[in-house]
Amino acid sequence: MILRSLRWQLQVWHAALLVVVLAGFGVTACQLQRASRLREIDRELDSAALEVLRFVHDRDPARGRPELPPPRRPRLGSAGIYFAAWARDGSEIERSPEAPGTLRHPGQAGLSPDRRPRHVTHGVHRESWFRTPRGDVVVVGRSMASDLEGFRHFALGLAAAGLAVLVAALATGAALAGRAMRPLERIGESARRIAAGAHSERITTTGLPEELASLAGLLNEGFDQIEDTLARQRRFTADASHELRTPVSVLLTQTQATLAHPRSEAEYRATLEACQRAADRMRRLVESMLVLARLDSGEEPIRREPADLNAVAAEAIESVLPLARAHGIPLGFHPAPGPVEATVDEVQVGQVLLNLLGNAIAYNRAGGSVEVTTGRSETGLFVRVSDTGIGIAPDHLPRLFDRFYRVDGSRANPRGHAGLGLAISSKILQHHGGRITVESEPGKGSVFTAWFPVTAPREEPSREDRRGVSG
Ligand code: ADP
Repeated sequence: MILRSLRWQLQVWHAALLVVVLAGFGVTACQLQRASRLREIDRELDSAALEVLRFVHDRDPARGRPELPPPRRPRLGSAGIYFAAWARDGSEIERSPEAPGTLRHPGQAGLSPDRRPRHVTHGVHRESWFRTPRGDVVVVGRSMASDLEGFRHFALGLAAAGLAVLVAALATGAALAGRAMRPLERIGESARRIAAGAHSERITTTGLPEELASLAGLLNEGFDQIEDTLARQRRFTADASHELRTPVSVLLTQTQATLAHPRSEAEYRATLEACQRAADRMRRLVESMLVLARLDSGEEPIRREPADLNAVAAEAIESVLPLARAHGIPLGFHPAPGPVEATVDEVQVGQVLLNLLGNAIAYNRAGGSVEVTTGRSETGLFVRVSDTGIGIAPDHLPRLFDRFYRVDGSRANPRGHAGLGLAISSKILQHHGGRITVESEPGKGSVFTAWFPVTAPREEPSREDRRGVSG
C-alpha cells in the first residue's frame, strides 16, 4: 500500500540510485587504492632486489676478480623483506632467514631474461621475481599483512562515509519529495472541496510549477464543464416543471370551478375541451422531453440509410401545406438539380424539417412567404428554410437552440410550444454529424440551414452529446 504512494516511490528510487552510485564509487575507490599500494610495494621490492642482484653477480667466480673480498650478503630483514637466489642449474645460492619455507625455484618458464621483474601475490606475500642474463633466479618479497590491515581500515572508513552521505541524501530527498508533493496535495484538497459541493471553487494555479499549473488548468476546465452541465440540468428541470405547471393548473382550476356548481351540458363540454387542450399540451411537452432524453442517452435509434434530401424536403413541405394555407403563406421549393444523396434517418430529418417549416409559418407575417432550398456546397449538403417573418434579434441567436428558450418568454407561444423544437432539431443534426445554422434580421425574416456531411459520420455520439443536457 505504502509503495503505491508517489512520494514513497520517489524515495525508494532515490535510495536505490544512491546505493548503486555510492557502492560503485566505493568499489572503484578501493580498487584504485589497492592498485596504487601494490605499485608502491613493487617499487620498494624492485629497489631492494638491486642489492640481491649485485650480490649474485659479484659472487660469481666467473668474474675472475679473486683479489677482491667476497661480496657482502644483502641485509634486508630489517625492512621486513626476504629474498632467495638460485643459480642457473637450480642450486640455491642464498636465502634469507625470513624467507618462507615454501619458497622454491619456479623453473625458467615465465621469467624473462631481460631483467624485467615479474610481480606476483602469494597469499599475503608480494614478490618480485628476476632472471639474470646468465640464468640465475632472484626473488625478493615481503608480507602485505600490515598493508591489508590499512586497506581494511580505508574500506571501512569509506563505507562509513558512504553511509553518512546516504543518510544525509535520503533525509534531504525526503524533505524535497515532501515539498514537491505539497502542490499536488493542494490540488487534491481543492478537488475534494469541489466534489463535496463547492462547485464554483477552482484550483488556484498561481505559484504552481508549470506542469502542475497546466494539469490544474485542465482540471479547472473539467470542473467548468461539470458546473455548466449541472446548471443546465437544474435549468432544464426548473423549466420543465414550470412548463408543466401551466396546463396542470388549467386542469385544476377548470375542473374545480366547473364542479363547484351544477352546469349545463355546453359548459361541461367547454370545460372538457379546455382540459383536453391542456392535456394535449402536456403530452407534447412530455413527448419532446422524452425524445431529448433518448437523444442524450443515445437510446433514440438512428436508422441511417441513403436518402435523397430533395425527396425528404418535398415530403415535409407536403405535410405542412394545409397549415401554410391556413395562414395564407405560400411555400416555394427550389430543389438542387439531381438527387442530393445523404446517409440519414429519414424520419428524424423529416422531423427537423417539420420543426423548421412550422416555425417559418408560425413566426411569419401576413403576406409573407417561405422558401425551401436544397443543395451541395464545400461544407456539406444542406436544406435551407427561409422565411419573410418577424426575424430574431442578434442577442437571442446564441441561445436559440437552448432547451425551453423562446425569444419572447412572456409572449403566449402561437403554437403552445415550449421552446424545445430547435433543441431537438439541433440534437438530431449533431447525431448525424451535421449542424444547424441561423441567420436572421428582425422585421425581415430568418434563414435556418440544416447541414449534413457528405460522407457518413461515425456511429458514436459526439462529446457534446455525452455531456448531458444541452441545447
Ligand atoms: P417552439 O417549438 O416553441 O417554436 P423552437 O425551439 O422551435 O420552439 O423555437 C425557439 C424560439 O425561437 C421560438 O419560440 C421563437 O421565438 C424563435 N424562432 C424559431 N424559429 C423562428 C423563426 N423562423 N422566426 C422567428 N423566430 C423563430
